[in-house]
Amino acid sequence: MKVGIVGLPNAGKSTLFNALTRSRQAQVGDYPFCTIEPNVGVVPVPDGRLAFLAGLAHSEAIIPAVVEFVDIAGLVAGASRGEGLGNRFLARVREMDALVHVVRCFAGNGGAEAGSALGDVETVATELLLADLESLEGQLERQRRRAKGGEKDAAKICALAERLVKHLGNGQEALSLPLGEGEGDYLGSMCLLTAKPVLYVCNVAEADLAGESGPVLALRRYAEGHGPAAVCAVSARLEEELGDLDPSDAAQLLAELGVADSGVDRLIRMAYELLRLASFFTAGEKETRAWTFRRGMRAAACAGVIHGDFEKGFIRAEVVSFADLFRFGSMAEARAAGRYRMEGKDYRFQDGDVALFRFSGPGRGG
Ligand code: GDP
Repeated sequence: MKVGIVGLPNAGKSTLFNALTRSRQAQVGDYPFCTIEPNVGVVPVPDGRLAFLAGLAHSEAIIPAVVEFVDIAGLVAGASRGEGLGNRFLARVREMDALVHVVRCFAGNGGAEAGSALGDVETVATELLLADLESLEGQLERQRRRAKGGEKDAAKICALAERLVKHLGNGQEALSLPLGEGEGDYLGSMCLLTAKPVLYVCNVAEADLAGESGPVLALRRYAEGHGPAAVCAVSARLEEELGDLDPSDAAQLLAELGVADSGVDRLIRMAYELLRLASFFTAGEKETRAWTFRRGMRAAACAGVIHGDFEKGFIRAEVVSFADLFRFGSMAEARAAGRYRMEGKDYRFQDGDVALFRFSGPGRGG
């Protein structure tokens, strides 16, 4: 999963990116979390369940689920007309599954009143809308030609594109357009920027973290009308500092500020929620590992997350929920209580399922 960090210059994107990527390496065992390129970083999804599972299975290593964050600089007003890094910026955004939109809500250097934070968000939103409208025009032309040529699906795609043009023209993101049967796939293939879920991150002053300041409330109202979207408040600079402290000092600093947990942890969890992602686990002596799947995915597809051969040769999944394992304290007890289930390929995986896949394949007895 790839999440792009966007926002106007000086919103705090790089500061947040550093906090997300650098600070977390020490926390997650031996797995190499790294910055792939200067602006791309792989970040583990915090999950307290892994340590418990690894203890039960005497695992040598813990491998958490990961999210890839990309710091996408270069958005300025006029990007859709090629200003700033215009086209390069937009092409990069297209590759993302979701966006974290950093909004400057701290004072200083022309920093924010409620109105200006909202104005910043609208500037970015407008550029994305304009870029989508332009892309839709080109796509409509192509699909109309295909429709004339008698291509079956072209008329349906045209109808959707026309509705989208109207919707975007009203200042609404593609994501909020009600879709008919089968239109989700068409929308997906249109690669629109405003079809991506957005997490608005209000970058607030440390002093504003404990309560909700004006700009944060204003953005919450905005997000309600431009959803599905989520809003959270962090102080990017504080998060960067926390990353340099050892855990007990970090906890003390958070307590002094009246904040319950690290904003970065919250942000990663919210991005996961927003994308409707969940984790299932595998646990053995070599490793305990979290795997990411989309809510509603079935057992065979989940097996495929681990390896294509698991999906092809799928026989069954042996599943126990984390909650049951935790309650009964061991696999044997959970089994004795009848909580260890055999599930077929159509079983819909649940967040926290601990699974063992049985499959047949070359060199495998099943
Ligand atoms: P970008 O252009 O969006 O990548 O913004 P930067 O991350 O480079 O931040 C712009 C400036 O704002 C830098 O001088 C940061 O130190 C400062 N800054 C970023 N986050 C915070 C914050 O949470 N509080 C304060 N006071 N300053 C911040």
